[in-house]
Amino acid sequence: MKITAVRAHPLSIRLEHELWTAQEALKDSSLILVEVEAGEGLTGYGIIHGSPLKSIAEWVTRFGDIIRGDDALAHEIIWNKLFSLTTPRPRAMFGTGGLVAPLPRSARPQVMAAIGGIDIALWDLKGKAARMPVYKLLGGERRPIFTYSTGGYYPRDATIESAAREMAGFVAKGYRAVKLKTGGFSVEDEIERVAAVREAIGRDILLMLDMNAAYGLNDCIRFAHGVEPYNITWLEEPLHWYLQPNDYVQLAGATRIPLSHGEREIHRFTVRDFIECGAIKYLQFDSTRAAGFTESLRVAQLAEQHGVFVVPHHSPEIHAHLVAALPEVGYCVESHASDTRDPLPHQIFPERVIFRDGYIHLTDKPGFGLDIDWKSVERHRA
Ligand SMILES: [Mg+2]
Repeated sequence: MKITAVRAHPLSIRLEHELWTAQEALKDSSLILVEVEAGEGLTGYGIIHGSPLKSIAEWVTRFGDIIRGDDALAHEIIWNKLFSLTTPRPRAMFGTGGLVAPLPRSARPQVMAAIGGIDIALWDLKGKAARMPVYKLLGGERRPIFTYSTGGYYPRDATIESAAREMAGFVAKGYRAVKLKTGGFSVEDEIERVAAVREAIGRDILLMLDMNAAYGLNDCIRFAHGVEPYNITWLEEPLHWYLQPNDYVQLAGATRIPLSHGEREIHRFTVRDFIECGAIKYLQFDSTRAAGFTESLRVAQLAEQHGVFVVPHHSPEIHAHLVAALPEVGYCVESHASDTRDPLPHQIFPERVIFRDGYIHLTDKPGFGLDIDWKSVERHRA
């Protein structure tokens, strides 16, 4: 089955109200929908989250030209073919003689995102060719996948009370676990905010904290000690963007709250170091941001060998299939109970996940089972 066409659809919705994490403003809900067509009338769909949309979409198109005619079921070969373009190869530097010149360093995040979207589409296609959902291809089972709802983003008028109210609202919708964005206020105010959220959601609901790289080591240790009494499941991306596995080892040694990391890593080789140093207990690699489902499987298998739980960032419609195939360490997926933060996937994939009683329920549709609302795609073209 040969690849006949690859298309990228950059899509975006302007948010009514701008939100912030501790790190950055969220003004839009965006994604790139990738289509890979193969013979026998099959089309696979992939999803990319990243920016700039235009540049990622151009890389998808360019890679489409490179893999047209290749075997659509050979996802490892295609992954390797595209990834190898990022490095020097003998006499490739002029881009002559049929060789692609090494891709620019500055484009790495966009290149890895484009590889990821194509790879996810190939897995969708493989499932459709086999008439099986992806979790079944992987040897997984159709079990309910635990999920949590993320909230606590900072609008301009954010208060401690508004965060507590929002998180309690998720519990009222049936969630048994919630994740609070933190790190936007001072350490002392954030500790108070976490205490207020714990009070609002009650003792039995799991509470994760997503810090979006808010602190250096010493502030983070002070924050961790301050929130330890509130029974925190994990501290997510606790340290500044430039801090490394060694710094995480120091933090892990200073708090009894487990650490979570991985959404900002774009390939398995940095993830390996975070897992092997023993600092993290939860792995959040996001196949829709970089490197695709194939890379997710590789890091998940390494995580399993180290007793690290796999809790992928975002995109439950894709990542629930991975978690379903990891009986020992497949722990949960992320979701958003409210569509104010990320309305686009709710509109493009209206039936994307079935949520009931704190769990995501997979279907037996082939591939990732994505039904696309093409009218919505047309409406939201970027
Ligand atoms: Mg996060």
